[in-house]
Amino acid sequence: MSAHDQTTAPELKSWVERANAPDCEFPIQNLPYGIFSTEHSAARVGVAIGDSILDLTVLAEEGLIACPLTVVTQVRLNDFIALGPIVWRKVREQISALLSASNHTLQGNAALREKALIQQAAATMHLPVEIQGYTDFYSSREHATNVGMLFRDPKNALLPNWSEIPIGYNGRASSVIVSGTPVRRPNGQIKLPDQDRPVFSPCRKLDLELETGFIVGIPNALGEPIPIEEAEKHIFGMVLLNDWSARDFQAWEYVPLGPFNAKTFATTISPWIVTMDALEPFRTLQPTQVPLPLAYLQHTGEHAFDIHLEATLKPETAAEATTITQTNFKYMYWTMAQQLTHHTVSGCNTRVGDLMGSGTISGPTPGSLGSLLEMTFNGREPIKLQSGETRSFIEDGDELTLRGWCQGEGYRVGFGLCTGQVLPAHPMK
Ligand code: CA
Repeated sequence: MSAHDQTTAPELKSWVERANAPDCEFPIQNLPYGIFSTEHSAARVGVAIGDSILDLTVLAEEGLIACPLTVVTQVRLNDFIALGPIVWRKVREQISALLSASNHTLQGNAALREKALIQQAAATMHLPVEIQGYTDFYSSREHATNVGMLFRDPKNALLPNWSEIPIGYNGRASSVIVSGTPVRRPNGQIKLPDQDRPVFSPCRKLDLELETGFIVGIPNALGEPIPIEEAEKHIFGMVLLNDWSARDFQAWEYVPLGPFNAKTFATTISPWIVTMDALEPFRTLQPTQVPLPLAYLQHTGEHAFDIHLEATLKPETAAEATTITQTNFKYMYWTMAQQLTHHTVSGCNTRVGDLMGSGTISGPTPGSLGSLLEMTFNGREPIKLQSGETRSFIEDGDELTLRGWCQGEGYRVGFGLCTGQVLPAHPMK
C-alpha cells in the first residue's frame, strides 16, 4: 500500500461524531472487521466505527460495497478474506468514503443510516474467523530470556537456537475463543519438587500471556514456501491474544516436546481484526538482529509496528482493575514476516483464517513484562493490586483484560478489549 493512502490520512473525520474523539479506538482511520449479532439479526460481518458497528449486509444490499451479499452475511470472515487484497482494499476505500464527514450517501439518508449503524453496546461479538490452524511463536527476546532463567539456567537462559529460529509450536485451534468468554481453570498433572510422582490437581499457577496474533489472508499451497519479501502481503490483519497458561503443568510436561495441556485449554482473542492497511502508518524498525539471520529470513526496511499494549487484572470483588503491565509490540525480536516465512519454509501450507500468536511480549523494563510468571519471579514476589490484595498467579473470579492501540496524530487505532474471567476448576474425579 502507498504511503499516501487516503483512508489513513490523520485529518480525515467521520460524521459518526464519537469516532472523532482522540481516545476513541475506532476512528475512521481504523475500520476493523468483526462478526456481530443483535437481538434482531443473526451473526454477520460488521466494521467498527466510533461506538457503533457498520452492518455490511445493509451496505451490500444497497450495492454500496464491492462484495457479494452472500459473503457479508456469513458467521465468519473467512469468505470475505478469501476474496483477496484487491477486494479488501476496494471495500475499505468504499467504507471510508461512506463514513467520511464530506459524504452524504449514508449521512443524509436517515432511514438507511439507522438501519446500517448498530450500537456496539447492543451487539454480541463472535469469533471473527474460523481458525483451522493456530501456531504460537516465542519471539520476544526479553520473555524467552526471563523464562529461561526461571525454568532452566540463569547463565544460559537463551538457548543457542533462539537467535537463529523464530521458535514456535503448533497450538490448539479448537480452544481459541472470543473476548468475553469465561475461562475454566484446568485440572492436570503437577510435579511438586519434594515428591517422586506428580499429583492431579487444579492448576495452581494460572497465568496470562500478553500477545498479539495475525490472521493469514492469502494461503500458500503445500510444498510452496512464502518468500520473506512476500510474507507481509499474506497477512490480513492483527488481533490481541491472551494465551492462558498453566505454569505448573508446563514445567512438568514441556520436556521433550514442548507445552501441551498447559496451553490447550483456552486462547482468547479480541473480536475486531485490525487490517494491515490501518496499521501501515505505525510501521517502525524492528530490533537489530545479531547474528544476522540466515538468508531466507533476512529482510531490509521496517517490519515492526508501534502498538502500545497493556493488561489489567480485576479481582471479582474489587471495585476497579489494576494495570499490571504496559509494553509494546515493537520490542519483538522476530517479525511477523520472518515468522510466516519460517513457518512455511519446510513447505507447510497455511489457510485463510489461520492464527499466528506472537509469543508473550515482554519489554526491557520491569513494568513491561507480559506474564505473571515473569512479574512475580514464578510466584516468589507477588504483585500488589489497587484493592490491597496481592497476586502470585491468577485466582478464581479474576478478570484479565488486554488493550492495545497505535497512537496517531490526534487519533488512535485500537483493537478493543481482549478479556476473560476465570471460573473455578471442575471438581476432580
Ligand atoms: Ca504463548
